[in-house]
Amino acid sequence: KQDTDKDKDKADRATSEQVLDQRTRMILLQMINRGVVSEVHGAISTGKEANVYGAVTYDDKTGDTIQRAIKVYKTAILVFKDRERYITGEHRFKGGFDKGNNRKMVKLWAEKEFRNLRRIHNAGIPSPEPLSLKLHVLAMSFLGDKKGWAYPRLRDAVLDGDDVEKQWSDLYIQLLGIMRRIYQVCRLVHADLSEYNILYHDGKLYIIDVSQSVEPDHPRSLEFLRMDIKNVGDFFRRKGVDTLTDRMIFNFITAAEEPVEEPAMSEAIEKLYVARPSVTEDQLAELEVDNEVFRNQYIPQTLEQVYDIEKDVQRLGKGEGDQLVYSNLLADQVVAPKEEGKKTEGSEESEEGAEDSSDEEGA
Ligand code: ADP
Ligand code: MG
Repeated sequence: KQDTDKDKDKADRATSEQVLDQRTRMILLQMINRGVVSEVHGAISTGKEANVYGAVTYDDKTGDTIQRAIKVYKTAILVFKDRERYITGEHRFKGGFDKGNNRKMVKLWAEKEFRNLRRIHNAGIPSPEPLSLKLHVLAMSFLGDKKGWAYPRLRDAVLDGDDVEKQWSDLYIQLLGIMRRIYQVCRLVHADLSEYNILYHDGKLYIIDVSQSVEPDHPRSLEFLRMDIKNVGDFFRRKGVDTLTDRMIFNFITAAEEPVEEPAMSEAIEKLYVARPSVTEDQLAELEVDNEVFRNQYIPQTLEQVYDIEKDVQRLGKGEGDQLVYSNLLADQVVAPKEEGKKTEGSEESEEGAEDSSDEEGA
């Protein structure tokens, strides 16, 4: 009984400054009772959609302090409405999106981050290890030092030493490899990748904030990928790095035949530099135009995506059928795609479901 009171104090301490609601406090208390964490400390970060708290637990054997991070999604907000674009068209969340129920939506969002993080972490990409998920509260390993100082965001990273220029360009190549690995091994596009969602420590990049990441079959995944590529390029160019064009990077990330393991992956990127034609100032300007064109290109991924049956039937009716990019496919696809779509969805969903049965939900 006394223990419970003491634990409650610990949970209260974390919430006193940030005014968390009763449900969130109950979940934190539950995590303390189950030994996920022992104490929850102050906020490391307060964002629009979530707060991240530092927490600690103690090693059973050695008694050493182990740092943790707890991301608490805010349940009483409207900013999530923009997030619809990330979830619509994701087979993993079919039927699970309900704009009317904020709490449910935020829970879904935390779930998405947990799953994506697990995939990314399991692929050996430096990132927090997801530890526990309950409703809108996610516990993960802490990226920082033993005293509880989080690693800086890449944006705030200070590189020192002899050849800072070389260090930045190595980080750039490291990141391109990570992006490729996320795409090829995890089958994900980060979709909010920038110097703000990457932490830096000792020459190494850590990927965080993956709740909005989508699978490549998401209707807008390639658009998100191009956005990620642009953000990354802009940042490293500001750091003076000689960057590759967005198109080259896009092709590298999505090409099936390139390696996905280091050091082969970095070597493949070095080769891209060698293969790149040397350019004059004029051509550079042209390349920038090409970058811009590339960014705005629409790359359809699936037939279903270019296929708006009502509009297309209208067009066909007006005798404009030959304008449809897939007109030659139309004949056999009119009935087929739905059937086929269903099959893959069903099987993948049940696979995801089985994988997720280990997630803590009940209790
Ligand atoms: P938001 O959705 O608010 O952007 P993030 O997941 O990006 O949330 O986290 C916000 C900040 O919290 C990060 O910039 C980082 O400083 C810190 N942070 C998040 N996760 C961790 C972690 N596992 N370890 C250490 N710091 C973290
Ligand atoms: Mg973030």
